[in-house]
Amino acid sequence: MTDLPTPVDHECLICFLYRVGSDHPCKQSLRFLKHYRDLVAPRATALERKVQLLGGYCDCEVLMNAVRPASAETARLLDAGKDIVCHGVRRGSIQPCDQWLMRRGVQWGGGQFRRKSA
Ligand SMILES: [Zn+2]
Ligand SMILES: [Zn+2]
Repeated sequence: MTDLPTPVDHECLICFLYRVGSDHPCKQSLRFLKHYRDLVAPRATALERKVQLLGGYCDCEVLMNAVRPASAETARLLDAGKDIVCHGVRRGSIQPCDQWLMRRGVQWGGGQFRRKSA
């Protein structure tokens, strides 16, 4: 597992998945998400469950289903397959930076998590 890329300082989970996903084909697993969690936020043990509730059953599905671009500019870069520069998050956080919005109905952070019927 040591050949997996590592997150850079303050890189958020979603930017990390986007960045490594462009170099590494999805293996139908959450290996990069777990890798990020283990390195950056080992206490976020519910992370896999959260993203699966959002339809993210593998790394690329997290990008496709759990988040959406927060701005037209981010959407344009995403569509074009261009690099997205992470705006950074607090270390230990599993929240996306402000380039991304979580799909509605799920609350991240603050230790609270609920699913509302959408
Ligand atoms: Zn996938
Ligand atoms: Zn980011």
